[in-house]
Order: sequence, then structure tokens, then C-alpha cells
Amino acid sequence: MPFHYASAPRAAPGPEDNVFALQEAKVWMGVPAGAKTLPLWSEVKALLPPGASPHHVGKLGERELWALEIPKDGPEWRAQDFEWMESRALMGLLPAEAVQALCSARQLLFWEGRSRFCGHCGSRTVDSETERARKCPDCGLVAYPSQAPAVIVSVVQGERLLLAHNKNFRPGLYSLVAGFVDPGESLEQCVVREVAEETGIRVDEVRYLASQPWPFPNSLMVGFTAQHTGGEIKVDGIEIEHAAWFSRDALPDIPSHGTIARRLIDTWLASED
Ligand SMILES: [Zn+2]
Repeated sequence: MPFHYASAPRAAPGPEDNVFALQEAKVWMGVPAGAKTLPLWSEVKALLPPGASPHHVGKLGERELWALEIPKDGPEWRAQDFEWMESRALMGLLPAEAVQALCSARQLLFWEGRSRFCGHCGSRTVDSETERARKCPDCGLVAYPSQAPAVIVSVVQGERLLLAHNKNFRPGLYSLVAGFVDPGESLEQCVVREVAEETGIRVDEVRYLASQPWPFPNSLMVGFTAQHTGGEIKVDGIEIEHAAWFSRDALPDIPSHGTIARRLIDTWLASED
């Protein structure tokens, strides 16, 4: 079931096309007999007010795929064998290609909703006829879908891993240090800075491991490993409430499968020191 992103989107869906209807972090999914299926446009259209138009995302398997943002203050949606599911939970349940499609859908909707006016002169923008972009008819600015790069890093000290509890986490959950890349900064510089700012730890040997789109709302997470070279743990107490070195046999509650954080932690768990 390959997914192909559409760099030049179509104008209107067909009744047999698939659609991701998104309401904040939730996705409208078919759940017949416990399965997870994408709704058809005809099934979603029946729940919508007249005139609602989805955005073309690409092609998933044999069907064109669309995305549509559903306002939270509208009428409640009810349909036999359909329900709202959490995006994060779905990312651990759907095949990899469908997860990629969901990430594209979420990020495109986020961008579409925030590119209606020109960021330079304030005029109302229009869709480009040749590519996925919004054009300003007055000053000519072209705005493309954008992502915010962020780093996430497994910092190792001997046989122990650095994990931190963010104030926004559920109680007891620990994860890797992460943060957004500053303008003009390399990914490696960002790793060194974020670890120092959040935990007081100095690192080197920064190595790329993997990346993952993280559409909450529009990040691209870039995963690294690094080695502790000095410094004692000292957290800011504001964003990071607690951080510590953990050994393999005494790990706290960690992020679930399907996240790049878990992939980095699992890679460390399987590695030889
Ligand atoms: Zn403009």
C-alpha cells in the first residue's frame, strides 16, 4: 500500500477516494469488527455541511487521499462502525505507509490553515496552479508547506542513558532530550546546545541515527546519539522537572512504540557498551 505525496494537488475528490477527517488530534476512522479503515469521501461528505472541500494529499495504495479539518464546535459526528481515534494511538496501529500519509495530511492541513494570507504584505493568497504552494497576487510571494526541524538525542554515559521528565509529560514518564533547531544553527550544534540547556550536560560524538515526521503540529524530528563528556545534571525546573542517568535494568516509564524516542531508546537497549 505505497503512499505517494502529491506535489501538484488535484482540485476535487471522487466518491471512492479516501479521506482523513481530522479534528484537532483526532481522526475519523472506520472500525468495522475492530479493523481500522479509512473512510471514503462519500461517507465523510454525508456528515459535512454543503460546500466543504478537502485538500488533496496524494495517493495511498490504489485510492487518492484527501484531508479535511473538522471544527470542534460543529455538530457531533455519529455513524455506524466509525469513531474518532487519537492520531498518536493510530500511528502505533496503522501500517507505515498509512502513518506517513497521516503525517502528510496533518502537516498539510496545519499549513493550509495558516497560509491564507501573505506573510509579507497581508493580502489574501491563492493556490498555485502548478505546484503545492500559496501565491500572493499582490507582491508575488510564494509560500510552500514548511516543517520545523527538531532534534532528539540519546546521551550515553558508560552503561547509562540520560532521560528527562518534561513538565508536560504524564506523571512518571521519561524521555530523551529534544528541542527545536534555532535559525542559523546546524543539527549537531542544536544537539549540544539543547542537552546543555535542559540538563547541564556536555556532549560530543554527535551521530545521526534516524528521523521521523512528527505532525503535532509540524515538526521533523531528527534523532541522534551522543556521548557524555562532562558536567553534572542540573535541570531548569521549568520545562524539565527532573533528569537522571538510567541503566538498562532500571528504566522508568518510557514513550510508546511508534515514536522516534522509543526507537532511539530501543537501539541503545540493544547495543553493546
Ligand atoms: Zn504579498
